[in-house]
Amino acid sequence: MPLILITGLPTSGKSTRAAQLYDYLTERIAAESSSSSTPKFRLHLISDQSLSISRSVYDLDPAHTPAHVRSANASEKDARAALYGAVKRVLSPRDIVILDTLNYIKGWRYQLYCEAKNVQTPFGLVQIGCPVARARGVNEARIRRSEQQEQQEEEQKAGNGTTKDEPTTISTSTTTTTTAAAAGAAPKSGDLHPETYQQSHQNWQQKQFEEESTGPDFEDVTLSPTDFQEPYTPRSNWENLVFRYEEPNPMSRWDSPLFIITWDDTPTDTKATFDQIWDEVIVNKPQKLIRANKSTVQRDKDPGGDYLYVLEKETQDIVKRILEQQAEVGEGGTVRLSRSGTKEEGEEMLEVELPGKKVGLPQLQRYRRAFVALNRGGIGLEAVGTLAAGRLRESFVGYLNDAFEKEM
Ligand code: ADP
Ligand code: MG
Repeated sequence: MPLILITGLPTSGKSTRAAQLYDYLTERIAAESSSSSTPKFRLHLISDQSLSISRSVYDLDPAHTPAHVRSANASEKDARAALYGAVKRVLSPRDIVILDTLNYIKGWRYQLYCEAKNVQTPFGLVQIGCPVARARGVNEARIRRSEQQEQQEEEQKAGNGTTKDEPTTISTSTTTTTTAAAAGAAPKSGDLHPETYQQSHQNWQQKQFEEESTGPDFEDVTLSPTDFQEPYTPRSNWENLVFRYEEPNPMSRWDSPLFIITWDDTPTDTKATFDQIWDEVIVNKPQKLIRANKSTVQRDKDPGGDYLYVLEKETQDIVKRILEQQAEVGEGGTVRLSRSGTKEEGEEMLEVELPGKKVGLPQLQRYRRAFVALNRGGIGLEAVGTLAAGRLRESFVGYLNDAFEKEM
């Protein structure tokens, strides 16, 4: 059946949501096929991890790639070829494929969209919304964890050299310290020789200090205890991927339908989006219903469908920009946003007056959802393309200003 792409910044929570979607679809498929013995659909989750693709393939800095071996981005091309091949092998009208990788290049998404079209199967895109600082925090936490792991392994090797007593215990104790290090915690005194401990604790403190004082803006993120993914290193690899990320545009065929799930979405929110994915992508239901009452609009695309994506996309964009600018203008400041969403010279600007206390993403998302729910039915301009986007932005900004005013 369909091809569902997951996209988002590096370390923004893509695999977490992909796994949840996988579980959701597994249950749903089981429920649908309970009457017959063979399931209606087969489900596949393809990812960098499932194909053992290392994060280092995304590092395009020629300084980090052995130049005599290959051009700087040959390895990323190889990785893409492997992913493409894996999708192509299984995609069919009976197979649902979730592709969990960065999917950050527009042309790549287009290629996959065409592949789905070739086998006459639906296509959808799930974007994971996560503030850059938080995604960076995940990578930092993974860097910290893997450095500690390496350090502990080295110390263990050194310890082994002097004691010589129990060569067989080393491999088992490595696994235990790996778990301790995985929590991203300071070294534990009980695990190590006192001197080694002191040294390693000092190193750890030094690192914390360096990262806090010199590192770029990142949130402190606690990794889940089962998180053993490798970080993107060096840090420039991660930063470049963020820089190169090509935002999905729900107006283009190959980026729609677009579903957005944010880091802070609750299980209920997430399930609602998964239900939507099931209806719109897997069984292809409500799009047809929407089309029925828009029959007079002369367009090859479904304006009703597009409208909802524009509504999601524009409101999401405003939330994102408010959070970005709030960091600069501070509480009670004024955030300025372009009306069309593009930054054209001399363009009309919209202003949001922030309340006296800091607004967080969850609060903004609550307002956004309420606004989306109110305007699902349309604002009467759906057929006019970009006009609708501008009007929507204006209307959401007005809604937010009212809401914030009540809070002051
Ligand atoms: P990606 O696949 O984009 O690299 P992951 O899904 O592996 O990201 O998530 C990175 C880390 O962030 C993991 O430790 C995961 O447990 C945590 N994480 C991801 N999404 C969430 C979320 N919505 N809420 C809390 N923790 C999350
Ligand atoms: Mg992942």
